[in-house]
Parts: sequence; C-alpha cells; structure tokens
Amino acid sequence: NLPLVAIVGRPNVGKSTLLNRLTRDFRFGAIAVDVPGITRDRTYHRAFWNGIDFELVDTGGLVFDEGREQVPFLKEIREQALIALNEATAAIFVVDSTVGVADLDRQIAKMIRRLGLPVLLAVNKCDDEQRYLDANEFWKLGLGEPFPVSGIHGIGTGDLLDKLVEYI
Ligand code: GDP
Ligand code: MG
Repeated sequence: NLPLVAIVGRPNVGKSTLLNRLTRDFRFGAIAVDVPGITRDRTYHRAFWNGIDFELVDTGGLVFDEGREQVPFLKEIREQALIALNEATAAIFVVDSTVGVADLDRQIAKMIRRLGLPVLLAVNKCDDEQRYLDANEFWKLGLGEPFPVSGIHGIGTGDLLDKLVEYI
C-alpha cells in the first residue's frame, strides 16, 4: 500500500487542476497512472516525487455541494471527504487566493485540525507576484505555512511536493 494524500477544499478552488499538475507534468518529475475501478466518489491517482511513490485522492466537488457557501454541509458528501481523509497519510488543503479566506475554508480547517494528520496548505491561483503576497493571508487558518501555487501555470508545486514527501 502506497502512502495516500487526500486533496480537499471548497469547490472551484482548483483541486482537480492541481492534482493533474502534480501527477501529469513531467517537468515536475511526476507520472500519472490512474487506478481504475475505485468508487465513483473519490478518484485515486498515482504520483512520484524525489523517488517516493504515493497516491493522491481527489475529493473534488464532493466535499461540499454546489459551491454556494450559504448551503450547509451535506452529510453524505462530508462523509466521503472524511473517508478519504481517514485513510490518508497526509492532506493537501487547497484554497483560492483570488477569493481569500472563506467561511467554508475555516470550517474545513477546523475539521482537518481535529483529525490531526499532517496538512499542507496550498494557496492556488497564485498566477503572479501580487497573488504570491496575498497568500500570506492564509496563515490565519492556523494550519502553518501557506504554499502559494498555480495549478494552471505549475508555479510552486515543486516546493509543495518537497514538503509533502517529508510527511509521507
Ligand atoms: P475544483 O472544483 O476544486 O476541482 O476546481 P477545478 O480544478 O475544477 O478548477 C476550478 C476553476 O479554477 C477552473 O476554471 C480552473 O481553470 C480554475 N483554476 C484552477 N487552477 C487555477 C490557477 O492556478 N489559476 C487560475 N487563474 N485559475 C485556476
Ligand atoms: Mg474537481
């Protein structure tokens, strides 16, 4: 069994984009092999970094419903994310630098802190210098250092992966 890393966060923060970047981009030494036949609710992907093999599980779109933050957590959906988190060795919590700290981010942060597994805070959509600076705002989630990344441009993912493999 390979170490498993769960990718969690609100809808539309870029979890799936980042996952593709972490698993498919040769520039970062990562190779993707999709694992077939797992549940339709969580997708598992192989990844490789600094000589370490691991799996990423994308809980995308499932953690919470339609993406409207006014809508409360759906029980079943939260359970899916919790299953992924419970079987995971570590988590990547993805937030959106263009939105800033959202209420739902705080709720997720609280849930993750309770689980007590190592978590890396990926501040996505840091496509330029200004956004990089904005990433500091996410210190207030109380999950340690925010890692500015851009899933689209592939910025910052090397630093994120370097840190991640220390935990798995
Ligand atoms: P998910 O719901 O968290 O899995 O988010 P997706 O990966 O589906 O991305 C949601 C939207 O954010 C899409 O329109 C992406 O193109 C966009 N997006 C993802 N990563 C980035 C990024 O690094 N920069 C910018 N500007 N947009 C991004
Ligand atoms: Mg997704």
